[in-house]
Formats: sequence, C-alpha cells, structure tokens
Amino acid sequence: MTNRLDNRSQNHAVIFLGPPGAGKGTQAERLARNYGLVKISTGDILRDHVTRGTDLGLQVKPILDAGHLVPDDILIALIRDKLAGLERVRVIFDGFPRTVAQARELDVLLEELGTPIAGVPLLEVPDAELIARIVSRGRDSGRSDDTEEVARRRQEVYREQTQPLIEYYSSRGQLQTVDGVGDMDEVYTRLQNVLA
Ligand code: ADP
Repeated sequence: MTNRLDNRSQNHAVIFLGPPGAGKGTQAERLARNYGLVKISTGDILRDHVTRGTDLGLQVKPILDAGHLVPDDILIALIRDKLAGLERVRVIFDGFPRTVAQARELDVLLEELGTPIAGVPLLEVPDAELIARIVSRGRDSGRSDDTEEVARRRQEVYREQTQPLIEYYSSRGQLQTVDGVGDMDEVYTRLQNVLA
C-alpha cells in the first residue's frame, strides 16, 4: 500500500496520541520501521536516564514513579536536542506532546525545521481495558510505574492534561481516530489506513 509517508526525501512528523496502555509504543515501533521514521518516545528517553543514573534521571525518577508529568521545559529541551541531531526530520512522536504547552512549542520547532505534521492518529481504548493491560504489562516488564495505583493516576493525568490535545489537533483537521481494540495486526492496518 502506498502512503504519503513513503516519500523518504520529505520531512514528516507523525504525532501519536492515546492514553497510557493503549499500545502506542508497539505500534509506533512498527510504523517507524515500515516508513523509515525515527521513533521519539519520551517515556523511553526518560527511563533510559533513570537507568543510567544521570542528573536528569535522578531528578525525574520520583515523578515517573508517582505517575505525574515531568515539567514541560525539561521535555521541550529534550525534544529540541533530539531533533537538532537528525539529518532529516522524519519522526514519529510517542508520548509527546502531553500538554497544550508542549504542543505549542512543538509547532514552533517543526515550523523552524520545515517539517509538516503528516498525521495525528489517536488510539482509542476503553478505560477498563487500559488498566488491565498496564497491570499485566507491569508483571512482565517490571516497570515501576505499571502498578494499578500509578496506572490510575496516569489515566487521571491523561484526562486532565493530555486530552485537551484532542481538541487542539482536531480543530485543525489533523486528528485521525483509530479503534485500538483488537489484535495488533488489525490495529496496525487501521493505522496505516488513516495515515495513507
Ligand atoms: P505511558 O504512555 O505508558 O504512560 P510513557 O512511557 O509514555 O508511558 O511515559 C512514562 C512517564 O514518563 C509518564 O508517566 C511521565 O511521568 C513521563 N513522561 C513521558 N513523556 C512525557 C511528556 N511528554 N511530558 C511529561 N512527562 C512525560
């Protein structure tokens, strides 16, 4: 299937939205591989700092463990840095932006870099299923924020701080809603269809 992301000489940014536990990470990985995009997962970047025990890692660990959001200025600096290191800006964001302030700043950055937003897929999964998925993932991954209590906090934070992004992008006609229930291949096909 051809897709506008197939043009590898063009800059593109895909902004992947969805609540914690919706399966964004896995699907973003696959989209990145298929379309030659760099996946920028802010959760992975932050967890890597925690693992390496960097200053930033020490600073953010308690925030991650509590299920709160890391301050916008830290995230914006991380993303600025990441994009500056790329030869071509062909990226898929997973877990960023998470607040309207981050989204505004990302608009500025992408404009500076001459990179259009190719799509904003939103992966939708019912709340009850999200908690179940996170708790079972925690059993496998050992992620310290994948307990039921922290998962519920992350859902709340999502509702309060990240959900406004749905309106932010849909009012500009950029949002593409995708049903995130079903097996991984099925969900992937739906994603490809909306990005085509
Ligand atoms: P999930 O989507 O499963 O909740 P992530 O791996 O995307 O998890 O993020 C894990 C944690 O990292 C978040 O709960 C938050 O503390 C922090 N984080 C990641 N991305 C951001 C962001 N864009 N802004 C603020 N905090 C973030």
